[in-house]
Amino acid sequence: MKAIQVVGYHEKLRQAEVPMPEPTGPYDVVVKIGGAGVCRTDVHILEGQWAEKSGVTLPYTIGHENAGWVHAVGSAVTNVAEGDKVIVHPLVTCGLCRACRSGDDVHCGQSLFPGIDTHGGYAEYLKTSARSVVRLDDSLEPADVAALADAGLTAYHAAAKAAGRLRPGDRCVVIGAGGLGHIGIQVLKALTAAELIVVDRNPDAVTLAVSIGADHGVVADGTHVSRVLELTGGNGAEVVVDFVGEGGATAEGVRMLRRAGDYHVVGYGENIDVPTIDIISTEINFIGNLVGSYNDLCELMVLAAQGKVRLHTSKYPLERFQDAIDDLEAGRIRGRAVLTP
Ligand SMILES: [Zn+2]
Ligand SMILES: [Zn+2]
Repeated sequence: MKAIQVVGYHEKLRQAEVPMPEPTGPYDVVVKIGGAGVCRTDVHILEGQWAEKSGVTLPYTIGHENAGWVHAVGSAVTNVAEGDKVIVHPLVTCGLCRACRSGDDVHCGQSLFPGIDTHGGYAEYLKTSARSVVRLDDSLEPADVAALADAGLTAYHAAAKAAGRLRPGDRCVVIGAGGLGHIGIQVLKALTAAELIVVDRNPDAVTLAVSIGADHGVVADGTHVSRVLELTGGNGAEVVVDFVGEGGATAEGVRMLRRAGDYHVVGYGENIDVPTIDIISTEINFIGNLVGSYNDLCELMVLAAQGKVRLHTSKYPLERFQDAIDDLEAGRIRGRAVLTP
């Protein structure tokens, strides 16, 4: 089969002819890829940023945002059958460790991450496990939802956690209405009656945010902290969800947070610099967010099937992988690029 592989760091990806994956373990599932999302992490892999952490042996097939049709299953698989439409949770997890048994499979002690530390989905077929596949509603197509498997799942995980404490009448500030942020806004809108205030430097992103459900859009032009304080009666918001996490976003974000509020960190890059006396005297909380669990992905697919979460995609045939990467790097993609073998 055709596969797009990393052959060296600081080198371009290369198309190769590789053996088809086959179920070898009882819980293995081989998926015929319908869509593989092209992610900024893929660019970082090529830059060598993951080389040490993943320990992967080159060459290998990248692509960690996958959806398609079940092609073959191991002898013990009962939850999906050949031909089922599925989206693939990015991790292959053991199901036996303490984290897996509490549904917190993201923190599995023995997980594999196809596309990062083993063969991924920029290919015609991908091997994953029965624990990782979520059946799709008839109304959804693999190529349309593939990119929700990672970027969308991370946004869902943070937004759903934030929504857990938001009551009607509360305010929630979302910083950043880009790729992850615009999914987070749709999720918050679906899960809570809290008032949503979205802050972004880009006026177009703010307009988009309002069109998908934000109650207030605020352009980050230097007056935005005082504007948010005005919108929250001078108190700040009960919850801030920060999809940026760099360029001074956290210092501004903390000033928008109410006493005893929750500050969700999703985007990353800078240090949070808050005096500890401020943390104890106001009882604010800082909460980290990684990618979502299998159950988070199931819930996100329910919202997608209900039409409450939509992702804009640009599709490329598998062979045009280089165009997709170039367009991503040049900022020419609205929403997400998806390879369709
Ligand atoms: Zn990704
Ligand atoms: Zn586990």
